[in-house]
Amino acid sequence: MLLRCVDTEESKKILHESHSGMCGGHFGGHATTRKIHRMGYFWPTLEHDAVEFVRRCHKCQEFSHEIHMLAQALQPIATPWPFSTWGLDLIGKFSPSSIDGHNFIITATEYFTKWVEAMPLTTVPGSVITKFILNQIICRYGIPQIIISDNGTSFKNDEVHELCNKFKISHHTASLYYPQANGQAEAKNKTLKSILLKTVKENKRDWNLKLYLALWAHRTSIRTPTGATPFSLVFRVEAVLPLEVEIPSLRISLQGILDEDAYREARLSQLESLDEARLDAEQWQRVYADWMCR
Ligand SMILES: [Zn+2]
Repeated sequence: MLLRCVDTEESKKILHESHSGMCGGHFGGHATTRKIHRMGYFWPTLEHDAVEFVRRCHKCQEFSHEIHMLAQALQPIATPWPFSTWGLDLIGKFSPSSIDGHNFIITATEYFTKWVEAMPLTTVPGSVITKFILNQIICRYGIPQIIISDNGTSFKNDEVHELCNKFKISHHTASLYYPQANGQAEAKNKTLKSILLKTVKENKRDWNLKLYLALWAHRTSIRTPTGATPFSLVFRVEAVLPLEVEIPSLRISLQGILDEDAYREARLSQLESLDEARLDAEQWQRVYADWMCR
């Protein structure tokens, strides 16, 4: 794809926005580089500048020691198709609570695309968890085949059991079936948690509002096991990010030039290549799994 070459001033703005901006998420230098490429920008010293920028980022230094990802937490699970397997996890208890009284975050990670759904919660009884599974997973992505969680009372209770029975979902609790089964959700949460920690630093009581921006950052960054962004695996196209509107990327500049027929045709061919992108991601996952198990 053609990239737009930017000048020094623009490159500074792009680095700042794509690393520490609204949907930046403070990813590493190489991940930030790939994000910038994907948005359609280029300059000759991009990779070097990005690595340097991240090295000097104050928040990254501040939080780097707080998050340790265990090797076992990356144990991958092969899933046949998007939205069939979800890992559920609770983060918290946070204190102080958010301005609206939230103490917890529930997260659901889809194992194939790495798509994450999350929500701030005040309490975590079975009824609340059940509602989350129904509204945020089933109503949006269909009935999953498997959900995986830990053994906590929030997940192991009559309400969740009943829901799973009703929709014939098999509920695996990580420690009972395979100890590493929930590792992926945990690893995901560590990244999500680290993004949250960083983004809410300015205003601790606001974290419930920042959560959705953190999710956005997560969905639009390449995940190592698939080699693609969750957004692209779900929707085929990459999301339009704030920077692209400010410093128009190529695809934004081209908007309005295509007539309606050409536009429809372009969209159709994008949709047709979705299967191929998912197959690619699946192969990536296998290679990654082999590599991790060595
Ligand atoms: Zn940073």
